[in-house]
Amino acid sequence: MVTKLVKHYGLRDERVLAALERVPRHLFVPEHLVNDAYSDRALPIGCEQTISQPYIVARMTAELDMRDEDSVLEIGTGSGYQTAILATLARRVYSIERVGQLARQAIGRIQTLGLPNVKIQVFDGTVGWSSAAPFERILVAAAAPRVPDALLDQLSPGGRLVIPEGDQHEQRLINYRKHENGVVTRHIGEAVRFVPLIGRHGWKTKEATP
Ligand code: SAH
Repeated sequence: MVTKLVKHYGLRDERVLAALERVPRHLFVPEHLVNDAYSDRALPIGCEQTISQPYIVARMTAELDMRDEDSVLEIGTGSGYQTAILATLARRVYSIERVGQLARQAIGRIQTLGLPNVKIQVFDGTVGWSSAAPFERILVAAAAPRVPDALLDQLSPGGRLVIPEGDQHEQRLINYRKHENGVVTRHIGEAVRFVPLIGRHGWKTKEATP
């Protein structure tokens, strides 16, 4: 899978590629889809959600440009696959999932892999995780009309936040940087397609009402 990603997309970030090599994706997909686990596709994981496409996981992780000492917040644990990738690259990962069943499965997988630096909780991640803030890096794995203010507030100076912003059909990957003086800049990246971020500062329902 990793060789293909390198060939096809020219991915070069060695740390990200090593993380993808280390985390067995077949542990994160439903049993009947195990044979597709290493194809470059998003796959259904139940509860109307998907495990992200490996290329997108690699791309978002590379965009975060993480350092070993970083504390990272992830919104939308899903299967826990992206969480595990982040955990191999950061000091600490806090991940929030709104669907209890998915969070419980993800916690089991993270325990099986023996990753001690991950905390997963069930609540609306659009408000962030104030008791663990600030975070050097924030990754939002669901599509929002616009980045929730609470998340930018919980980002450290020098921090980066990656989020798909747009409507429910198509989004662009946006990379926010908070500079040391507190000024935030916004860089627009490629077109992507994510499931909706549903919550107080996201979409109110699946049917596209901000
Ligand atoms: N990166 C994950 C996939 C995430 S799919 C993986 O590779 O498996 C997006 C996830 O975001 C879904 O599981 C969905 O339930 C969750 N989600 C949507 N809105 C949320 C919110 N407000 N807070 C926390 N999680 C949310």
